[in-house]
Amino acid sequence: MSTETGDNGPEAVIGLEIHVQLATMSKMFCADPAEYGRPPNSAVCPVCLGLPGALPVPNAKAVELGIRAALGLHCEVHERSVFARKHYFYPDTPKGYQITQYDPPLASKGYLDVPDPDGYAISRVGIRRVHLEEDSGKLLHERLPGRTGIDLNRAGIPLLEIVTEPELRSPRQARAFLDRLKRALEYMRVSDCNMEEGSLRVDANISLQDREGVAPAGRTELKNLNSFRNVERALRFEIDRHAGIRSSGGEVTSETMLWDDAAAETRGMRSKEAAPDYRYLPEPDIPPLVVASERIEGIRGTLPEMPWARCARLVSDLGVSAEHAHVLTASRELADYYEAVVAASAEPGDAANWVLGEVLAALKSEGCGLESFPVRPADLAGMLDLVASGRLSRAASRDVFGRMVETGKPAAQILGDDGMLRIRDEDAVRGWIDAVLAEHSGEVRRYREGENQLFDFFMGRVMRRSGGKADPDRVRPLLLEALEES
Ligand SMILES: [Zn+2]
Repeated sequence: MSTETGDNGPEAVIGLEIHVQLATMSKMFCADPAEYGRPPNSAVCPVCLGLPGALPVPNAKAVELGIRAALGLHCEVHERSVFARKHYFYPDTPKGYQITQYDPPLASKGYLDVPDPDGYAISRVGIRRVHLEEDSGKLLHERLPGRTGIDLNRAGIPLLEIVTEPELRSPRQARAFLDRLKRALEYMRVSDCNMEEGSLRVDANISLQDREGVAPAGRTELKNLNSFRNVERALRFEIDRHAGIRSSGGEVTSETMLWDDAAAETRGMRSKEAAPDYRYLPEPDIPPLVVASERIEGIRGTLPEMPWARCARLVSDLGVSAEHAHVLTASRELADYYEAVVAASAEPGDAANWVLGEVLAALKSEGCGLESFPVRPADLAGMLDLVASGRLSRAASRDVFGRMVETGKPAAQILGDDGMLRIRDEDAVRGWIDAVLAEHSGEVRRYREGENQLFDFFMGRVMRRSGGKADPDRVRPLLLEALEES
């Protein structure tokens, strides 16, 4: 496997912790809305404020989504798991502790297969554990001049934490893992994974070990990385920093650090020696989470075809290029749309070109998603059929598609309304040809005496007679036939 540090230098050992917000309507332990962007502190109640006597009740939908994600990551889901209190004091956590799962967690011992960024090989990356927990509130440093506000809308939002084994060996591989994980979670409809809104956050830990496998010394924990690009950059920075310290004979100390995007460097947060003791205790107000094996199997039945499997199927079954298949399966909605166009009898290659070209461009310029896109898959397939059968030219098809986006009407209707539908009917075309030849008997005689260049003259007359509606590809052979008759 390739590494960032060369073949003889120390090897990077990277593990990731990913927090995703579960796609529920309400919070993890109370009925407050989980929706993003509400006015500060407008979605709070005694439970998420931690008032005395309030009783937390686990959100059944969050449990279901967590199990689905764990199964999609090939984890063993535990029929009995336990909620625990993780104690720490910080203004964003009104209870003085966070409710999480410690031992046993919801699920463990899974994996995700990740393609190596530099080749065709696949690496299996172990998933150590997957557990449910609640988010903390948010400190607002810029809202009130000179003061810090607290918004507790986020306190109690359901999160799924996914912890990998330290089996990643390069920053690029870590990024490839995250790309694949995000796609999988989106396909499973576990989370919207919107990183701008904080629905997916990444912590990464990294150390360097010798080629002989000597245990890593100092370890860096990178907190709250808000983009995959920054994960890669921060890890790369840390590899260089660790290697520099080691080559000058120093020792790397374990630290928790933040990535400063503007300065493109990491900054120390607190040293690991002073790490807090969380004093995990079983949550006394919530009984152990018991999920019957039948329910687990029922949820397994809701797993979708995963994006990489779908991508491979588009290549093998429909003959789509690997590059196109990758983009078509970027989201489940786009892949569904494409497959619906093909199911409505469009040629797969044509359909791929149109979906990746005109459809994506129209979505962008209209600023809408596929769910409200006016051109339904069957209508796109209908238009491609008109092109394939020669009733609509390729050149005109883009205009017609634009009208379909504007009006939401099928292509045949637009062509009918505008009189643009090409006429291929043999009797109609022959009628125009006969009329033209009868009107121009002199030119017909000259043509038959050898003036072949007059063919274009007759073509023009027939097209004009049809009002431009005749299909020239249809006219040409019939006209030739009529002129060759003696
Ligand atoms: Zn609440």
